[in-house]
Amino acid sequence: MSGRRPFVAGNWKMHKTAGETGPFVADLAARLPEGPEVAVCVPFTSLAEAVRTASGSQLRVYAQNMHQAAQGAFTGEVSAAMLLDLGVHGVLLGHSERRQYFGETDDALAEKLVAADAAGLHVILAVGETEEQREAGQTEQVLARQIADSGAASHAARLTIAYEPIWAIGTGRTATPDMAEQAHRFIRGLFPAEIGERIRIQYGGSMKPDNAPELLAQPDIDGGLIGGASLEADAFLAIVAAAT
Ligand code: PEP
Repeated sequence: MSGRRPFVAGNWKMHKTAGETGPFVADLAARLPEGPEVAVCVPFTSLAEAVRTASGSQLRVYAQNMHQAAQGAFTGEVSAAMLLDLGVHGVLLGHSERRQYFGETDDALAEKLVAADAAGLHVILAVGETEEQREAGQTEQVLARQIADSGAASHAARLTIAYEPIWAIGTGRTATPDMAEQAHRFIRGLFPAEIGERIRIQYGGSMKPDNAPELLAQPDIDGGLIGGASLEADAFLAIVAAAT
């Protein structure tokens, strides 16, 4: 037993309107088992509804991104204080889609971690290698750089890491449990021992009800960050049950 509480989070990406969010969150909140921590990372427009509906339940609500500045001329962006004001518990940072399509860098992530930490927001920080990097034998180098450059070890109190091999996201291809475990163990070892022992590391990348039990049985896999399968309550809850 690691003593780390399992943590399963759903990343809805750009899915579900506020109107769809209310009944979905109410259903999830009513059916959560005791044990694992469970969160949904929802679009900005669904945050208020998700927080309102999840209130009084175990379900946590996370945003999918935030800006590092406290306020200012950053059209289209949202600050940590704005998220806190809504009652949001945390924020997902560094998802590969943010890195790939929106130019998010480790330097920006380092600033975002400082801002989220100062505000008291919990953070899920996503890291992971591309297929080319894995084939070139650079996986560990990439993971080490992402963890170091984002300053993760300095903000570990409310931090969860999500290891998401980019080639496994939304593709139906999953890392084998051995491959995932090896990367998780490596990431854990990047932190000072007392942090490494307690920091939770989720696996993400085509986790589904049928492959979740084997992945979640690995000693260094503490939960999952779930994309596609989190949009359907039964599938998401089956993964949560596998983490229980
Ligand atoms: C994700 O978006 O973080 C993810 C893991 O997606 P999927 O489960 O669909 O691969």
